[in-house]
This record gives sequence, C-alpha cells and structure tokens, in this order.
Amino acid sequence: MRDEKQDPGPCDRPSVGVAVSNRAVTGSPEAAPHDAHLVEIVEAGRRPVILLCDHAGYVVPEAIGELGISRVNLMRHIGWDIGAAAVTRELATRLEATALFNHVSRLVIDVNRRPRTMTSIPPISDGCVIPSNQHLSKAAVDRRIRDYFLPYHKAVARRIAAFRRQGQIPVLIAVHSFTPHLDGEDRPWHVGVLWRGDRRLAGPVLERLHAERDLVIGDNQPYSGQREFGFTVTFHAQRTRLPHIMFELRQDELATPAGVARYARLLGDCLEPALAEPTLYSIFDGDNLPTTGGLRAWRHAGHISPLG
Ligand SMILES: [Zn+2]
Repeated sequence: MRDEKQDPGPCDRPSVGVAVSNRAVTGSPEAAPHDAHLVEIVEAGRRPVILLCDHAGYVVPEAIGELGISRVNLMRHIGWDIGAAAVTRELATRLEATALFNHVSRLVIDVNRRPRTMTSIPPISDGCVIPSNQHLSKAAVDRRIRDYFLPYHKAVARRIAAFRRQGQIPVLIAVHSFTPHLDGEDRPWHVGVLWRGDRRLAGPVLERLHAERDLVIGDNQPYSGQREFGFTVTFHAQRTRLPHIMFELRQDELATPAGVARYARLLGDCLEPALAEPTLYSIFDGDNLPTTGGLRAWRHAGHISPLG
C-alpha cells in the first residue's frame, strides 16, 4: 500500500536498510520487456484462491518515457512494494492458488487507487516530486487508466468470473509491503492484517499470527481497513462480499531470499487451516462498509467497472 504522508527527507536518498535481492526482483521489471507482460498470471493450482499483488514491480512502460526521477528512487518503496511479489509467488505455490501480478510502477498509475484521485497518479510521493506526473492532461490520464489500470483489473475480474461460472466462490488474498520508517517514525509491526466487517479469514489468521511470540503483529496496522482499503480489495472483494484478507509485510524483513521464504511459510501456515474450512467459500452475509468516512469511496468504486 502507498504511504500517503509526505516525508520531508531528501528526494534522492537510498532505500532505508533494504537491499533488494535478486529473488525479490524475480518476475518484476527486468522480466517484463513488453507491455503484454505487465500483468502476469500464475496458475499454481485449481484451488479457488486468488492472490493479488498490486505493486509487484517498478516497470515504467516505454510509452510513458521517463518519470523524471532516478532509478534509486524508482526502486524505493514509492515505486513498488519491495519483496511482495516474491512472497506472493512462493505463497501461490504453497497454496496451489492463482496469483496476479501488476508489474507497472505505482508511480505510473496506482492500481490500488481510484482513478482520477490525487494518489492515483501521484505528483509527489514520500517527499519525492515526480516530474512527469505534473499537470497531466485529461487525455494523458485517460491513456494511463486505459493502458495500465484497466488491464490488471479486467484480469482480476475475469479470474473471479471464471471461478463463479463454475459455481465456486473464490477467496481473495492481497499482499502488500510497507516501508519500516516513515515521517521519522519506526514502524514496529512485522506483519499487518487489514480487515473490516468480514473477519472470516482475518480472524483465524490473526489468532495464529499472535501466537508468533517473536513477531509484532499489526491488527489493522500500519493501515486500518476500517478507514481505507484501497481500490482493489474494495472493488473486487468487499463490494461483492467475497471472502478476503489483506496483508502488509515490512519490507526490510523481505530483503533476502531467506526472509521471503520465512514470510511465505508463515502466511501459508496461517492461511492453510482457514482455507481448509469449506464454509469460507461463500458470500458474506454481513456488510463490509467502513464505519466512518469512506462510504462515498466504497459506493464510488461501484461506478467504475473494469469490465466496461
Ligand atoms: Zn502495496
């Protein structure tokens, strides 16, 4: 998920305490030379479980040209979710699930934000001004939505529809990562679980996570699902009441292949028992509306159809 707050720090500082391993970059920018590969789908099994990695890569497509920032900045947390794709890939294998990866940098357009909002194509992110995102014309914004937002969401919608045509209710699992330091503050959580309303998956997963005594677990931290879930889970899962969960993993924990493997194993161990419960695969009969503030956003999400 994006860190929305502004950091007064210098624009060109290196990523804090994060060495991006080859493993963490696997399946990301260098592996996606053509636009057709910007949305990657991995089918590791037939289970009705869909993993979503919105911020898998930091590709800036050729048609966009230069964003006007250094590669160091592009590879910071502002450009993508460091380590999230690598964990998602291992988790897909473990769970025999389908996984979708969006490899376009969220600085081009953030697929987890409603189009035409301030954070959709951010003019500034964590104190770093993005020159190419200043004063974009409506036509330029439309092109980014058409070329780099809709293809991912259409792919997600198609996978969901394919399961439902077979009479299956799929479970959606969103995987994000977050920076360990923001606004001069350390963020102590190793793993965060975001939830709102539907706790069928979040409840048992949090219970198991809390049993990990050496980890600090964020229950709706560092972001609260009660307040804002972003576009993807809101649109594809909460609006239609599909079972779902959203993870936030601290990026410095994913800096090595061993770290990635550890967290993929941990999430797999927490998810497996809950996913083995047949009653999970059903439409939630409560509601997922935010308790405050975000009702308008939730309703608005229904007006943007990725299938349109
Ligand atoms: Zn993210």
